[in-house]
Amino acid sequence: MPEGDTIFRAVRTLHRALASKTVVRFRTVLTHLERVNIDTPLAGRTIERVEARGKHLLIHFSGDLILRTHMRMNGSWHIYRPGERWQRPARDMRLMIATDDFEAVAFRVPVAEFRTAAALARDDVIQSLGPDLLDPEAELEEAVRRLRDRGPMPIADALLDQRALAGVGNIFKSESLFVADVSPFASVASLSDHTLRTIVDTARQQLEANTHDPIEPRLAVAGGVRRTTRSGRPDRRLWVYGRAGAPCRRCHTPIALAKQGEDARLTYYCPRCQHVTGEG
Ligand SMILES: [Zn+2]
Repeated sequence: MPEGDTIFRAVRTLHRALASKTVVRFRTVLTHLERVNIDTPLAGRTIERVEARGKHLLIHFSGDLILRTHMRMNGSWHIYRPGERWQRPARDMRLMIATDDFEAVAFRVPVAEFRTAAALARDDVIQSLGPDLLDPEAELEEAVRRLRDRGPMPIADALLDQRALAGVGNIFKSESLFVADVSPFASVASLSDHTLRTIVDTARQQLEANTHDPIEPRLAVAGGVRRTTRSGRPDRRLWVYGRAGAPCRRCHTPIALAKQGEDARLTYYCPRCQHVTGEG
């Protein structure tokens, strides 16, 4: 599952390249998309805007047609100039939207479908999403309330629950809990509202800071070079993520690794620094 900052950068890049441009060509290997394209062609439509809803990327076309994609683990969107060599094999292409200036190519997106505005408004997955931490209008108190509803769930799992809040993936889950000194195993019910608020705030700041990093402009989604510490050194960018066995940057205790939740998602943490395990 990509982090919210990845989606944010992909949306920003795609929006800048495509918004208010006319589609001159559309190609896809996905038959359910091609069927729509044959019945009601994409070519000739205007791309109105590109936006994120949680980790879903929405491209709005004129004539009430919305393309919803989800990148999950392996999907990505790239932007190329016409004729420029793609950086992924053509066999990985799932769909391509061309304007006079750009080709937007989705590689290996596991979810891609056309919806109307009305159908999207009825879509339970979209409608049940919690506040998106990268949305400047997001209500952080609402995210805290929705986390609170997760009761006995360990905080590390609750942070990944898109119905509670959207934007946090595995990296910022581990990094925000470390900075907030909270054990990933603490149940949501055992943590105070103040602590939940601190975690949400920290995750939001970390995500936000990573939307400003320069990225390779042609790759809408390259993963980027994330940073949660203040260090510019490549080997010091993150507090705990990916550092199992390495010494904690604060106390030198070896960073621990656990698998949590139904999907056995990796959690990196410092057993010593992350001492908040419950506040009664
Ligand atoms: Zn430590």
